[in-house]
Amino acid sequence: MNYINNTLLSLRASSPAQDEFYQAVEEVLCSLAPVLESNRLYQQQAIIQRIVEPERQIFFRVPWVDDKGNIQVNKGYRIEFNSALGPYKGGLRFHPSVNASVIKFLGFEQIFKNALTGLPIGAGKGGANFDPKGKSDNEIMRFCQSFMTELYRHVGPNTDVPAGDIGVGAREIGYLFGQYKRLTGRYEGVLTGKGLLWGGSLVRKEATGYGTVYFADYMLNDRKENLQGQTCLVSGAGNVAIYAMEKLYQLGAIPVGCCDSSGTLYHQGGIDLTLIKTLKEDKRVSLAEYLHTHPSAIYTPVADYPTGQHALWQYTADAAFPCATQNEITKTDAETLIANGCKLVSEGANMASTQDAVECFIDSGIAYGPGKAANAGGVATSQLEMAQNASMQRWTFEDVDKQLMRISKSIYQQASETARTFGQPNNLVLGANIAAFKRVADAMIEQGVV
Ligand code: NDP
Repeated sequence: MNYINNTLLSLRASSPAQDEFYQAVEEVLCSLAPVLESNRLYQQQAIIQRIVEPERQIFFRVPWVDDKGNIQVNKGYRIEFNSALGPYKGGLRFHPSVNASVIKFLGFEQIFKNALTGLPIGAGKGGANFDPKGKSDNEIMRFCQSFMTELYRHVGPNTDVPAGDIGVGAREIGYLFGQYKRLTGRYEGVLTGKGLLWGGSLVRKEATGYGTVYFADYMLNDRKENLQGQTCLVSGAGNVAIYAMEKLYQLGAIPVGCCDSSGTLYHQGGIDLTLIKTLKEDKRVSLAEYLHTHPSAIYTPVADYPTGQHALWQYTADAAFPCATQNEITKTDAETLIANGCKLVSEGANMASTQDAVECFIDSGIAYGPGKAANAGGVATSQLEMAQNASMQRWTFEDVDKQLMRISKSIYQQASETARTFGQPNNLVLGANIAAFKRVADAMIEQGVV
């Protein structure tokens, strides 16, 4: 469709060298062709040109002093992408690979993910090219304080509410919140993923991983199957991966493999999750240490991976849960998974699969849940934390978990019903993109040209 191609071309010209961002935009726009053709209003109102342009982009310097007294400088970002449905909402990522393209792709995905939750939240994303690995607690604190010293003027409980993402967990959210409070003198719900002692919500820590597994279960239920007894590969060993594995065990499935940035771990009898929590949440060490307790498990360091392939996806399993980072499943990985009998992929990570890998999954007919639908339980529970903060209430674990399940189910139903309506019942990418787009686009039209 010319209209979409022209938008993509002009985006490449006006925002050069942002490959991850183009990938995310292209995937969404290609799914929208049937809606744009049938509803001329979206074109007349230039919704596509407006939706791909962030409302505001904040780039800033983050200077800090390391333990040796040296001055370090990082780049900080907050992209406030779309506020048609509510205050900007989306995580902060601290990782050396962070740049404007990565934050823009994440912010763009967030528009559609947040819309699918049905909750009043707009979309934003931020972070820094800071590597928390190997830093002392004091260095992390000084970095977070410097980061918030710029960010505080742009965020607030009714304007922009960041949360965690890669490299930003409860410890970092604590330091960021402390500095916000010091600078503004206000104790308010400006961040989510807060500690339970000071405004956090039960289930928020678990929500993204749990939600990704609930979504997988709903996909299987529609095929008259469930997760009981299914072997699973879960990439990552961080927040999302750990709680995906926890929920998989609770539903009777068996996670047999996971990975971190140093290598891949395979344990045929089932991953020892208590040990993973100790290694990754408490000690923050490499998965290689798992072998000290379980010498029969197999650990493959990154340097030994097969060329162009991820070691984890070579293993045979019934289901795959990519929960580490973007583009971690390539077309070759997808073909290997399918050839080995994998019948379900549910993405905890954002844009976990390359575009040609996604096409492979959809064409093969296996159940495929794209990140923006499958992992939306995290941001949904963040909104539940905002609701508790605003009403000064505290809900029980069971209450929040029930709401998480309800929202995950509703997202699955919206995506699958929309996919059916548009004649592609197995294409949840199309279903999720169209259902989300309509909600945001209609709100944008009602709010005028802003
Ligand atoms: P964490 O930082 O807690 O964990 C990330 C994990 O992935 C770590 O174990 C890390 O290894 C591993 N990892 C990172 N990059 C690579 C790589 N290139 N190869 C192999 N392993 C890698 O982040 P989260 O669990 O919070 O986030 C994971 C994904 O989920 C991201 O895509 C994020 O955007 C997405 N997501 C997160 C949400 C949340 O609520 N946290 C919400 C929705 C989506 P190591 O341990 O060595 O650092």
